[in-house]
Formats: sequence, C-alpha cells, structure tokens
Amino acid sequence: MASIFSLKKIRFCDIINKIGKAKLKQNQEKKRVVILGGGFAGVSASLALSEYIGDNPEYEIVLIDRHDYHLYHAALYEAATTEHRQIAARKVKKTVTIPLGDIFRKRSVKVFKAFVEKVDLGNGQIMTDSRVVYFDYLLIALGSIADFYGIPGLDKYGFTLKSLEDAVMIRNRIEDIISKKDSGQIIIGGGGFAGVEFAGELRNLIKHECKAHGKKPENFKIMIVEGAINYLPGLSEKVSKLVAARLAGLGIEGRFSTLLTHAEKDFLTLNNKEQVACDLLIWTGGVRSCRLPVLEDLERDKKDRTAATEFLNLKKFPNVFVAGDDACILDPQTKKPLPQTAQEAIHQGRHAAKNIYRLVQGRPLLPYHSGPVRFVIPVSGKYAILYTPNLIIHGLFGWLIRKTADLRYFLSVLPFFTALRYWLFENEIFMKND
Ligand SMILES: Cc1cc2nc3c(=O)[nH]c(=O)nc-3n(C[C@H](O)[C@H](O)[C@H](O)COP(=O)(O)OP(=O)(O)OC[C@H]3O[C@@H](n4cnc5c(N)ncnc54)[C@H](O)[C@@H]3O)c2cc1C
Repeated sequence: MASIFSLKKIRFCDIINKIGKAKLKQNQEKKRVVILGGGFAGVSASLALSEYIGDNPEYEIVLIDRHDYHLYHAALYEAATTEHRQIAARKVKKTVTIPLGDIFRKRSVKVFKAFVEKVDLGNGQIMTDSRVVYFDYLLIALGSIADFYGIPGLDKYGFTLKSLEDAVMIRNRIEDIISKKDSGQIIIGGGGFAGVEFAGELRNLIKHECKAHGKKPENFKIMIVEGAINYLPGLSEKVSKLVAARLAGLGIEGRFSTLLTHAEKDFLTLNNKEQVACDLLIWTGGVRSCRLPVLEDLERDKKDRTAATEFLNLKKFPNVFVAGDDACILDPQTKKPLPQTAQEAIHQGRHAAKNIYRLVQGRPLLPYHSGPVRFVIPVSGKYAILYTPNLIIHGLFGWLIRKTADLRYFLSVLPFFTALRYWLFENEIFMKND
C-alpha cells in the first residue's frame, strides 16, 4: 500500500514540477522592458510601449517609481500657494498628483513601487530597496534634483519646489511667518519658469494670510534674485518684459545680474556683498541629474546627465535608453543639450518607446528630433503668456490656453472622464487662490 501511495505522490509531484518548470520557462522567455521613473518621460514611454507591445504575451512592461503617483510639476506653484484653511494637505495632493494605478488601469503595464538604488547595466539588473528586477530593455527617466551650485548654506536654508512635500512645507512656512511677524521678506532664487510662476501666485497667498491674521500685505516683500539680465533668460525679450511688467505691478522686486553667494538662517549675501534679510528662501535656480548609481562608467555632462546617442540609447549599451531631465541629448543644430522641460521629457519618452519597439523587432532605430517649442507661463491669477517662436499671446486668453493645455495633458494619460474629473477638481481648488 505504501509503495502505491508514494508512487502516486511522485506522479503528482512530477506534474506540479512540470507545470512549475513550464511556468518558469514561460517567465524566463518573456522579454522584460523596464522603465525607471513615473514622471513625464517614464509615463509617456510606458503608455506608448503598452500601445506597441502591450498585448504581446512574449513581453512584459514594468514601471518602477518610488511613489505610487505621477507628479504634475506644472501645477506645483499653485499647490505651494494654496491656503491651508481652505484646502487640507490631503486635498493638495489630489491637485498635483495622479495615481499611477489610474493611468495604467486598463494597460498592460505593471507598476512597481520601489526606490531604485543601483543599476548593473552589464548584467541587466536593477537593485531596488525591496528586490532585484531583471531587464532585457531599459529606459532610465529618473528626472532631476535641485542644483545648489555649491553655494554655502543654500541646501540648509533654502526650500526647493520639486515635490509635493516641498509645496506643502512652503505654504505651511508662509502661514507660520505671517502668523508670527508683522513684516518679512520672501526671496526666490531663480527667475525661470518655476520662480516667476510661484512669485506671482505667492502674492495672492500673502494677501489671504494677512487678511486671516490681521496683518498688512504690503509689509511682506517678495524679491526674485536672477543671475541673467532679465526673467526667463533665453526665451524671448518680449516675454521677459511682459513678465517683468506683470511682477513689478504686483510689487515684486527683481534683482538681475545678481547671484546668491551665501545663505544664512535670516539673511542672504549677494555677489555685490550686500546682505538682505530673508525669512524664507525658495530655491528654483537650477537642476541637475539625480545621478542614479550605475555600476558602469557612463559618459555624463557637467549637470551629471547621461550622454545619449541620437537614438536616445547609450553607446555602450544599445538596449538601455535615457529620456527627460536625466538625459543629455544634443540639439543637432546648436550642439547644446536640449532643455529640461516636461514637453521635451514627454517627447523623448515617446521616442524612446518607439525605438525600444524597433529594437525588439530588429528594425533600425530612428534619430530623435525635439518637439515644438511652446510654453504657457502663468503669472498670477487669470493671466498667462503663451510663447511660440512665431506667436506671443498674453492675458486672460493666455490663461485659457494654459487651462486647455492642462486638460490636454490629463486626457493624454487618463481615460476621458477621469481626466475631466482631475482637471475640474484642480481648477476648483486653484481658483480659490486667485
Ligand atoms: C516647479 C516646477 C514647475 C515646472 N513647470 C514646467 C512647465 O510649466 N512646463 C514644462 O515644460 N516644464 C516644467 N517643469 C520642468 C519639468 O517638470 C521637468 O522637466 C520634467 O518633470 C522632467 O520629466 P522627467 O520625466 O525627466 O522627470 P520627473 O517628471 O521628475 O520624473 C522622475 C520620476 O522618477 C522618480 N524617481 C526619481 N528617483 C528615483 C529612484 N531612485 N527610485 C525610484 N523612483 C525615482 C520620481 O519619483 C519621479 O516620478 C517644471 C519643473 C518644476 C520643478
């Protein structure tokens, strides 16, 4: 009897083993495309890849991010200037983040929440804080971090505006200052997009906070310190002048051709040796690559961005692609790196996806051409400036274009009604600021 039972047992185990092995083989045979970063580049690449190869059972697409959401940076300045009495932090989160689960609900993209610690390109391994993930094809799109340029005290006393937590901390700090003091000065380091957008909206927050605490808004100054000769250097003189006029009208002081050289708790030193009192410093003066530790030696530029070929992959590792703020992609005409913008990141992400698909199919890769130049810069309330090389529109119409652009972006990553819901919610909250 015993032998019959054991015989049966062996047969049963055999079957289980066979199924197990077949499954393992199936998994090993599946080619895995891994995307690091669920930002603008990573999300656009994952969506495009799911269109190309999503239904093919031989492939698996895995997106890894330390957060379970996609951060919409373009609205961070609004989130940082929401009034806490009106909008709880939990609600602020909903205005600037989209859960990755909502984006990929009906897509064949597996989202894995983990912090990427290291990558071994040669062996196709990604070391995360929870496990090792293997890849056949990889896209690195981990974005950037604030660049403090080694200015003493800046990282210690300056607040950055790069994350949801930053936005919530900034608005809380402003409330704290106004509740405790009768006057003060907020300094913004950097007169680029983030700096001017934030400054314009900050004026409104100060007004609301002063009203709530019985203080005079004119006693709370805002100053922007910019190294170039005007705001938004490199865009267009007309746009710089429009921004300057708008901000000056709001009583915001601009210091141009001026650098911060030192930051202390209560004051900043400028390159002309002047010391200016500062209750809060927001640093938006530049970014550099997040410099993911990679075991191999990679070519990088002075901002630590990884050098990509014209196809967006790496010379040494053709199965590895880079896109977004983390990538150094040269403009074929100017030979200068392309700007670190969301538009570029989206465009590059889509192109990297296309080339990964072509590589999978054994087809030749296509060179990258940057996307159209188009910016809409909101500067306080219902005013924005649309800039394209041939057209500049400003005022309420510019603001409506900006709102349409936001909706277009949501529609590009979400199903119609979900996108509409996010957009309406964002507008409901942010218009309370105006
Ligand atoms: C305040 C602000 C306003 C801006 N406004 C505009 C604008 O109006 N228009 C415009 O074109 N550009 C704007 N930009 C620039 C734009 O946001 C960036 O160029 C864009 O986000 C770059 O996209 P990305 O995909 O490379 O990186 P990101 O969008 O930053 O995505 C990187 C992702 O990688 C993840 N990540 C990073 N490190 C790790 C890790 N170790 N492990 C796991 N996950 C990790 C992050 O969580 C993030 O989700 C703005 C930027 C800021 C800061």
